[in-house]
This record gives sequence, structure tokens and C-alpha cells, in this order.
Amino acid sequence: MTAAPSKVRTRIAPSPTGFLHLGTARTALYSWAYARHHGGEFVLRIEDTDVVRSTEDSVQQILQSMQWLGLDYDEGPIYQMQRLQRYHAVAEQMIAAGTAYRCYCTPAELDEMREQQRARGEKTHYDGRWRPAPGKPLPPLPEGVQPVVRFANPAQGAVAWDDLVKGPISINNQEIDDLIILRPPADDAGPGALGVPTYNFAVVVDDWDMAITHVFRGDEHINNTPWQINIFCALGAALPQFGHCPVILGDDGLKLSKRRGAVSVTAYEESGYLPEAMLNYLARLGWSHGDEELFSAQQMVQWFDGSHLSRSPAQWDPAKLAWVNAHHLKAASDERLALLAQQQLARRGVSAAALGALAQGIALFKDRCATVVELADWLQMLFVPMPPSAEDLATHVTDAVKPALRGLRDQLTTATWDKAGIAAAIKASLTAHQLKMPQLAPALRVLVCGRAQTPSIDAVLALFPREEVLSRLQHV
Ligand code: GLU
Repeated sequence: MTAAPSKVRTRIAPSPTGFLHLGTARTALYSWAYARHHGGEFVLRIEDTDVVRSTEDSVQQILQSMQWLGLDYDEGPIYQMQRLQRYHAVAEQMIAAGTAYRCYCTPAELDEMREQQRARGEKTHYDGRWRPAPGKPLPPLPEGVQPVVRFANPAQGAVAWDDLVKGPISINNQEIDDLIILRPPADDAGPGALGVPTYNFAVVVDDWDMAITHVFRGDEHINNTPWQINIFCALGAALPQFGHCPVILGDDGLKLSKRRGAVSVTAYEESGYLPEAMLNYLARLGWSHGDEELFSAQQMVQWFDGSHLSRSPAQWDPAKLAWVNAHHLKAASDERLALLAQQQLARRGVSAAALGALAQGIALFKDRCATVVELADWLQMLFVPMPPSAEDLATHVTDAVKPALRGLRDQLTTATWDKAGIAAAIKASLTAHQLKMPQLAPALRVLVCGRAQTPSIDAVLALFPREEVLSRLQHV
């Protein structure tokens, strides 16, 4: 075996068959942080060998999500479908070395093999009929059957590794089949088309060629790792270290899946979460640094050395994510949030050109919001009329307060248009009509903002242009 390269190199290898899943985003984060912590390199590889399910749209979504999260890579995206010749060359090399062989079994033959094994009460497996061995006769070459290439898995011994997350794992080689590593080209593929490798083979050739030293991935792959280690060894390649992270469970305790709520990074971007909050939250789902709950990506890079990864599945907790997001929202600049709120409003068809007003509004509302969507819910009233409900009108805009509202409207025509000037006008109207603030303020809020509760009404009114407030008060 060659000596392990000294530079830390990690990778994330999503399959472009959908959006970037939260679980993949989390292992991308661990891989990225580990590389950055060690001054190493992080590679993005697109595993697009599932030609039926892979789409360009999905590739774009993945790239966009990586960019949004700020997970920058030093190499890539590298596409497996552009490396077919390399997989074929390695397969040929293995056939020549006797660590792989061609198998001409037809699907019908394999079905029959499994059928007979089941009938005998055996676990189904490939019986090795095409595996060469000294003195062993192979079946006659059938006509018109395109062979697959199988890996000649060692028949004896065990595969063992010390998993960065799960600790020592050992699997007996007798439990492992001779895996198909290369399939023939599809019947309708044009002349000269190359067959596609299977995941376990392509992943090893790539991790080897890309000098990957550490592999973090979901533990759904743990059963694949023994094959991969055996193939690495057959190639004489240096083994990376593996860390298999437990699944993320939904808040119902079942595996997080599309059917049970949002599972893509994109969905959270659209729902008004900040990338630094997503990174913070995802990091904590399966890793800890003392009692730290709120931290930046830079702090994580400083702390993340591959230890303290959790062995038990983490549970997705929307309330905690909202809490983490609220924290990062407060720390974000009003100008940045104004741009994000503007994008949210644009999604609703609300054009909010006045960024200055948005930034002022954000300063006023951000303490009570967990997401940019909630901020946009507040800020929308600055750009579109918010018709009050009949119930709010009846409750708050009563005949008792209407004269004071009319008086205030007149005062506001000439008041200095800032918080203090508006406060003075409100005070004058209250005095003139012998009312108290709790009688007038809800009525004002309902008419101008479409809701009976807001932060301090003088500050809220100051966010609007004067004409807009007057126009919303004109029918009292
Ligand atoms: N394409 C595989 C996946 O998305 C990659 C697994 C790995 O990291 O080896 O699950």
C-alpha cells in the first residue's frame, strides 16, 4: 500500500437526483470544516452515474446551495460521467491483475440463481460461477450477452476500519458478494458508448485519484464501505479514513424525508433562514464543542478536528433552528437584511424599491422576528395597503375614537415627519380629545398597519411617507 498523502483532502459527492438534502449539506459542512481546520483541500464531485435520475437542473440547485451556504471548494465540480474512460481503464487493469473478472450471467440466470438459493433457505448471493480460479472450468461463453465486470472480493478474512464516528467496525469477507463494478452500455447506446460504473467502484477510483484522505458521509453507506476498502486494497491505493454520520430524524422521530417536511437547503433559503444559521444548526446536529450552541462558520473551522461527532441520530428541531436563526438575524446588518427582505417581498410580487425605509423597518422589527419571511411580513405594509379586518375595525376604530383620529390626521399634515414629531402630534390629539394612548394607538395601528399590535406606533408611522399615512387615515 502506498503511504498516505500528508495533506488533508476531503470531498462531498452528491448525486444530482434532487435538491441538496440537509443530510448531505451536513456532511459537506463537516468535510469542508475538517479540510479548512487542517489547511487542506475540499473537493466537490458530482456523482451523476444514475443517468436516468440525474438532471442538470439538480446540478445547478446543488451548486447554488453550496454557494449559498458558503461551502467553497478548491476543486470541482468534477463529473463522474466525464471520467468513464478512467473507470474502464482501471477495470481493465484489475481484470489483468486478477482482482476483477467478466461475468456473463443474464438477468434471468441471476433470478434463477436467487430463486434456488431461497428454495434452499440460503441468503441470496452471487455464486461466483464466472470467477476464475486455478483449474476451475468456466461456463461456455454465451452468445449475444454483454458481460458486466465484477470485483473478486477476497474470500477469506475480514475488513476492518476505525470509523471516525462509529469506532471500530469489522465485517467478515464471507458476508460480501462479488460486486458488479462496471455495467455494459445500454442496448440503445450508440456505437462506442461506454458502460457506466457502479457507485462503489467509481467512488473508490475517484477518492484514489483525488487523493482523498477523509470521507465523511451518511451512515446509509456503511454497508458499502467494506467493498470500497477491499477495492482500495486491490488497487494498492492509500485508504482514506471514514466517518459515517447517523441519519437526521424528523421531529416525529422518523427519518427526515420529503414526505415529512422540507429536506432541501433551498427550501430553508426560501423560508427566510440565513446561511450562517443553517451552518450553525446543521453543525450541532451530530457534533458538539462543549456547550457552544451559537457560533460562526469561522469558529467551527477553528474547533472542528473530527472529534466529538455523535454516534446517535440527531433530531431535526424546527423550534431550535428558528432560535438559532433569530440569533444570527439580530447579528446581521440592517442593510444586508433589507436586501434579503426585498427579495422575499419580490417573491410575493411586492416591489420594495425604498431600501432605506426597509433598513429602518428592520431595525425596528428584527428583535421580534425569527426569519426573513417574518421580517417581510412586517415590512410588506410599507409598500402595499393592508386592509384591516372587519372585526379589528369594529373593536378598535369605534365612534369614541374617530374624532381623535380625524384630529390627529390634521395634526399629521403639518407635524415634523419623524418619531418625535409624530409622538407630539399624537399627544396633542389625545389631550384635545381626553383619550389615553391605549384607546387611540390600536385604532391607528389597525388603519395604517392592518393589525392591532405593532412596536411603538410613532416609530412605525415614521417609516411610512407622510402621504401614505394620511391616505390610510382618510376615511375615518
Ligand atoms: N453519491 C453518494 C451520495 O450522494 C455519495 C456517497 C459518498 O460520499 O461516498 O450518497
